[in-house]
Amino acid sequence: MDDLQYYGKRVFVRVDFNVSIHDGRIGEDYRIRMAIPTIEYLAKRGAKVILGSHLGRPISRDQNKSLEPVANDVEFSQKLAELADIYVNDAFSTSHRRHASTFGATEYFDTRLAGFSLKKEVEYLTMIKENPHKPFTLIVGGSKIKDKIGALESLLPKADKLLVGGAAAYTFLKAKGVRTGDSQIDEEHFNWVTKALSVYGEKIFLPNDHIISSSPTDTSFSVVKGDIPDGMVAYDIGNDTSRRFSTEVGGSGIGTVFWNGPMGMFEKGQYANGTINIAKSMALAFWRGTKTLVGGGDTLEAMKIAGVSESEVSHVSAGGGATLRFLAGDGMPGVQAIQNP
Ligand code: ADP
Ligand code: MG
Repeated sequence: MDDLQYYGKRVFVRVDFNVSIHDGRIGEDYRIRMAIPTIEYLAKRGAKVILGSHLGRPISRDQNKSLEPVANDVEFSQKLAELADIYVNDAFSTSHRRHASTFGATEYFDTRLAGFSLKKEVEYLTMIKENPHKPFTLIVGGSKIKDKIGALESLLPKADKLLVGGAAAYTFLKAKGVRTGDSQIDEEHFNWVTKALSVYGEKIFLPNDHIISSSPTDTSFSVVKGDIPDGMVAYDIGNDTSRRFSTEVGGSGIGTVFWNGPMGMFEKGQYANGTINIAKSMALAFWRGTKTLVGGGDTLEAMKIAGVSESEVSHVSAGGGATLRFLAGDGMPGVQAIQNP
């Protein structure tokens, strides 16, 4: 919109200030900082800026406290719309939801705009989804295979390599006939993994050595190559795997790398090495010229632990579930509502 058109206007900005709070203190404030460019842009042009966000989840057991009944409520949508002249969505992370503030209210505004951080998310994720610079490498770890299947299905045909670490790797290894001991297996998605291996097996790289222990509370651990003995759980990728994966990521300085999900139970220092190495390799790849994208709440936490700053990544996606849904090609009501004025 033209710069002069903001003067004196009331602008409702849907932001995402849904940060984690421990003992009254904000944990990670990335989501708040991300909204600053849009807020300052509007304020400098003389707009009256109204910010709206959700925080946490309503307690669903207690219907009186739940916001569920108003989540798509027409009346609430109209009330929100009465607050302002212009609507701005800068909350990509909630744009997969059809809520009043992300979707319902938008139809009552003549002017609907994308905030800067939402715009950047959509641009980068569209590049990844449709036209990634080659070679295109995916790194997937963590524990929630279920949430990542949609994105993997859409990205795997375009990807040149998929490196799997974290708990996710053990479902893949088991499907290949490797003994995985008591490592975390996602039985529910075992068939999907088996099929992915049969179609894309040549592109899929799995750990060949592991840091194992008997339980998460056991402070002793050992290294094993190949099969994992019965009664033992793999909590991190081993040094060989780390080296192999790091070379794939940081080696060339060309193409695109997308990383989601830590390589091990990084919250425990003794199982953080694999993840820290990947985070550092991502930074190296970025400095060498690779386009790098990182997403996932725990993955961002791990980057912090590794000492890799946000400015050492081409794009940090704070979208969480929304990022994976977007990459999977699912509809995003909050994005569509501002794309079709
Ligand atoms: P993100 O939030 O980045 O998308 P996930 O939520 O999918 O990542 O996974 C993060 C979790 O996976 C972490 O809590 C981590 O401890 C756990 N995890 C990673 N590797 C293992 C493993 N080998 N065994 C058990 N848990 C693991
Ligand atoms: Mg997580």
